[in-house]
Amino acid sequence: MTLSFAVTARDGAARTGVMRTARGDVQTPCFMPVGTRGAVRHLSSADLEDLGAQVVLANTYHLMLKPGVDVIAHQGGLHRFQDWSGHLLTDSGGFQIFSLESGGNVKVDDDGVTFRSTYDGSSHRLTPESAVTIQTAFGSDIQMVLDVCAPLPSPEAVLRQALERTTHWAARARSAFVAQGRPELSQFGIVQGGTDIDLRVESAERTVAIGFDGYAVGGLSVGESRTEMLRTLTAVLPALPEDQPRYLMGLGDPLGIVEAVALGVDLFDCVLPTRFARHGTILSGAGRYNLKRAENASADAPLDATCGCPVCARWSRSYLRHLLVVDEPTAPRLLTIHNLWWTMQLVQELRAAIATGTLGAVRSRIEAAYG
Ligand SMILES: [Zn+2]
Repeated sequence: MTLSFAVTARDGAARTGVMRTARGDVQTPCFMPVGTRGAVRHLSSADLEDLGAQVVLANTYHLMLKPGVDVIAHQGGLHRFQDWSGHLLTDSGGFQIFSLESGGNVKVDDDGVTFRSTYDGSSHRLTPESAVTIQTAFGSDIQMVLDVCAPLPSPEAVLRQALERTTHWAARARSAFVAQGRPELSQFGIVQGGTDIDLRVESAERTVAIGFDGYAVGGLSVGESRTEMLRTLTAVLPALPEDQPRYLMGLGDPLGIVEAVALGVDLFDCVLPTRFARHGTILSGAGRYNLKRAENASADAPLDATCGCPVCARWSRSYLRHLLVVDEPTAPRLLTIHNLWWTMQLVQELRAAIATGTLGAVRSRIEAAYG
């Protein structure tokens, strides 16, 4: 079966939905934790089940280099390798490769991209077709096309070239994907164009014309202002099909999630909640704060009194701060569980609010805490 998507409720431009694949249903809006190298840092697949994660993201760039495609294919794919029965979404590797471009280790041509491994300097090549083959070998439920992500800000000529290559590569990736005859897997196209509205709309229209199972907006949350990001999203989302999932790549701060959901985005991924946790930055209903601050040294209160996570149910800020400042590995693990739980709880609240037409109230609350 191919992926289907049904909108179940609307509140303004925001919507809840059910994304159905051969693996099962995903309730949207959905936040997808990032398991870069086959695990969300400090967590296991069992932890992700406890968190209620529906989709986990994995990075093709890292996994194709270590342990390598052959090892994962020999193990029967990524689901079996990491013993995760939920959905897996893999990126194409493009974003990681281009974010390393400044080091002079990346060469892009019309056919693909050649790059040096961050691990051992060995030379590798990705083409639109090989990115499909690799992600299929991983058994990824949702795979992404190889795209060219230009840094922001970039001159229009650079954005134009990235758009042209992304569009041509998307057509090749779609042909390669269809030719392999794996209807249980899905493939998303990626819209580029920086913060140039005309380029964005053109990219969306040309990508939709190729025809994918869903559409991602890439190349945002890369350093542009929030106003620019929202202006771009507002322009590009109406150019994407109403009846297919929309994925905003790389966004995961609380206010960003709420604002993007309000505009009609269905899927998100971001390392932010987990990266914050490792540095002691705690997400809470009252805003974010640094657990290392002295005032938490003897605080009996949980990380967030309104949080239902297993960490807040059990341990005080005082204890968790102690573990953090003595570099106990338990600290980043427990703080990661809290931050991910809190983020996923927020998205669940957004789903409930859309269903009851009360998204505005949640939005005001998050704006007050994080604006
Ligand atoms: Zn908590």
